[in-house]
Amino acid sequence: MGARPAAEIDAWLRGGGLVVTASDRAARALESGFHAARRSEGLTAWPAPQIQDWKSFVRAAWEERGKADGRLLLNPAQERSLWAEIAARGEHLATLLEGPRHRLAGLAMEAHELLCAYAPQFPRDAARSAWQQDAAAFSGWLAAFDQACRAGNLLSPARLPLEAIQLLESDRLERPPLLLAGFDRILPVQREVFDAWGAWQEAPIGEPAARILSHEAPDAQAELAACALWCRGQLAANPRARLLVVSQDASTRRGEIERAFLKHTGAGPLFEFSLGIPLNQVALPKAAHLLLRWLSGPLAEQELDWLLSTGQAAASAEETAELQESMRALRRRGQEQPRWTLAEFAGQGPEERLPAAWVSRMSEAQRRLAEFARRPQSPLDWAELVPHLLETAGWPGERALSSAEFQAERRWRQAVETAGSLGFDGRRIQWQEFLPALARTLDETLFAPESHDAPIQIAGPAESAGLSADAVWFLGANEETWPASGPTHPLLPLEVQKQAGMPHATPQLDWDLAHAITTRLIAAAQAEVHFSFARQTGIAEARPSRLIKQMAGAPQPLGPERTAAASPAALTVQVEDWSRIAFPPGKVRGGASVLTAQSQCPFKAFATARLAAQDWEPAEAGLTASQRGKLLHAVLHAVWGGGPEGIRTQKELLQIPEARRAFVAGHVRRIFAEEISAGVRRRMPRRYLELEEQRLTGLVTEWLDYEAIRIEFEVAATEVDHTVTIGGLTLDLRLDRIDRLNDGSLLVIDYKSGDVSPKAWDLPRPDDVQLPLYAGFALDPEEMLGGLVFAKVRAGEMTFAGRVGDAKATLLANLNAGKELVKKALTAEQLIGWREGIEQLARDFVAGRAEVDPREYPKTCERCGLQTLCRIQENQAQLEGEDDSEGEEAGDA
Ligand code: SF4
Repeated sequence: MGARPAAEIDAWLRGGGLVVTASDRAARALESGFHAARRSEGLTAWPAPQIQDWKSFVRAAWEERGKADGRLLLNPAQERSLWAEIAARGEHLATLLEGPRHRLAGLAMEAHELLCAYAPQFPRDAARSAWQQDAAAFSGWLAAFDQACRAGNLLSPARLPLEAIQLLESDRLERPPLLLAGFDRILPVQREVFDAWGAWQEAPIGEPAARILSHEAPDAQAELAACALWCRGQLAANPRARLLVVSQDASTRRGEIERAFLKHTGAGPLFEFSLGIPLNQVALPKAAHLLLRWLSGPLAEQELDWLLSTGQAAASAEETAELQESMRALRRRGQEQPRWTLAEFAGQGPEERLPAAWVSRMSEAQRRLAEFARRPQSPLDWAELVPHLLETAGWPGERALSSAEFQAERRWRQAVETAGSLGFDGRRIQWQEFLPALARTLDETLFAPESHDAPIQIAGPAESAGLSADAVWFLGANEETWPASGPTHPLLPLEVQKQAGMPHATPQLDWDLAHAITTRLIAAAQAEVHFSFARQTGIAEARPSRLIKQMAGAPQPLGPERTAAASPAALTVQVEDWSRIAFPPGKVRGGASVLTAQSQCPFKAFATARLAAQDWEPAEAGLTASQRGKLLHAVLHAVWGGGPEGIRTQKELLQIPEARRAFVAGHVRRIFAEEISAGVRRRMPRRYLELEEQRLTGLVTEWLDYEAIRIEFEVAATEVDHTVTIGGLTLDLRLDRIDRLNDGSLLVIDYKSGDVSPKAWDLPRPDDVQLPLYAGFALDPEEMLGGLVFAKVRAGEMTFAGRVGDAKATLLANLNAGKELVKKALTAEQLIGWREGIEQLARDFVAGRAEVDPREYPKTCERCGLQTLCRIQENQAQLEGEDDSEGEEAGDA
């Protein structure tokens, strides 16, 4: 808002006049500007200004004159539930399920509001008699809605202006003139209300800003950076400056905008968004809702992880630590599951160390709920129960809440009350119906912590109405998005929407509204107004908005002062820390995987073996790949484990050609009985486990058929444990299997069901050292090594892959000469190379070598899962930056 309109509004208010604004945000902005002006005049007390936003103004006009009729003014949740009930009466497929029914109710509510605001003649039934198809269905719902409101003595807020018009027209009293501020367009019903009120006028828009500039950025990131850098420059020149950043889709781009402003303007308090975020995305209310859900049903694993890891489920930090530890312990034992009921989580068994006080509180809350939930209750009763349940469960804990948390908690209580208000029609509902109603309320309630009056305000084009600043920057001014277009309403006839001038009914309407907003923004600042657009959006090339071109001129490329440096100046001083913390001589858990990790990335070995870091695989509904792998190993161990149930030699295998499948099935059945825990059995359907048994039986039978064609062999050992010490590091190893071949040499075998290749052993940095390590350090030095192979147990692809001294003579006679097993035989040099390489890896680990240095970026990292700990993305960006600058320097030379 320019100086002249601001002064005019200020004078109007000082004279005791009433100002009506388009939104409550604009009303708050005017009010704070008024008080700031009085303070700057040195006053210590002054009369409160008369400022009302449109909704409060209409409500006050209605309440003063008509509230005596005793009707209940519905809140949005109540109105939506009424529409949902009416929609459900049609028994259409789309309304049978709760989600679609409520979405349809939301659409019907919107259509009703549009009619009331733009075409007030249509709420009358007769006016809609010619409506067809979906519009006709909506017309029927509207008639039913009117009937329900009459019968229940209810009133929709959308009807308030229509009621207010009648009341104002029948009340002939003199009323003070109105000054309107921040209206980009005055809707037909608003005009009628103001006319019925008496004299009114709009505050002038004011003069355009002194400088109006239009910019073109190469992409959205550069555009945001330019805007943030401009803000930083403005505040550096004048720390008291007020800046307004207007962005299309400000709510969906929130994260992106936040990151850019934090990066380029520095501290967070410099900016704030005028739009809030849904309450179900705010930690405290989200946790409360999850806890309530958990009292009567399961939570998904990721919901439970979030609840436990954020400390929102516990009363104290100690409880949080214990709960997190028990979750980790469950994972270590392979007992993760996709969904957890409270009873399952609390009843994990004696080894589980859940905090006793927590278990007792949660059980008590669950008991109270179960008692209350024996019969349907009024939503009001459920809403009253909620705080008691949460208090019993220990929410929100003992710690002092921050100011923002305190506000969020207050908003949560209001949301619970709103859900409770659904009892306005005397209905009784089950707890399982109350919870979704509460979830919808949380979803529809926006929360923004109290404004700190930050110097940079970020708003959407419509929300910026009534806001003023010293300078304005408008982001996203491209042809696609400005004027903003959108779909017409699906429940209203197109002709009605066009005639009434409803949003998006014609391109001209969109243009006119965008023109009005742009004109207002150009006059919202005295000093300067900037428009910008990104040439590249996703994979498409964008063009500048025609409207902005007309009003602000053709966009110009960003100058160097508005272009972020490739590597922004670091906020911290970088120190290369080459110090190492040696591993105390002794044993390390993890076996061969420790040295594999050391080879893949020293930091990975340090983090997993010394810090016990783990990646977090989501639990699966069925058996996980790791569980399947363990079962396969156990069955093959049983098969080749020797008598009385198992066999030991190829001769024995050949003696059971016909009954091979039955032989395997017996082992699989026994292993499933022994290895599948009661918990897993409980949550997986029996039929599924039977199918898994059959699948494994088929797989192992196919493998034995493959082994039957081998050159004669004997199994020397399976699942054999060895402890070895290499370079001062002691490791416990377990070998899947060792065969004695026909020449007396030993073949080291590792079962794999995945895609593996001996290339993984290639020096100087092997991707896997497991078999070379067994072969080099775990065998009796007196024995001769015949080879080391992966046994690839994969349906339809049974094979050996590895290095063998003479594969055709000792392993498979039918191998052709082109096969890798034949072409690339095991050599003494390879064994020596692996031995030296592995000793070096062990020495590096013991010395504390822990650089973030992946063997092959990004491939190695994709399988790792420790990115949040090693921050490889940041390091890599920096390394790439250094590489580039080295390249440039080399080019310069
Ligand atoms: S993600 Fe990559 S860099 Fe990070 S620890 Fe794993 S392998 Fe190393």
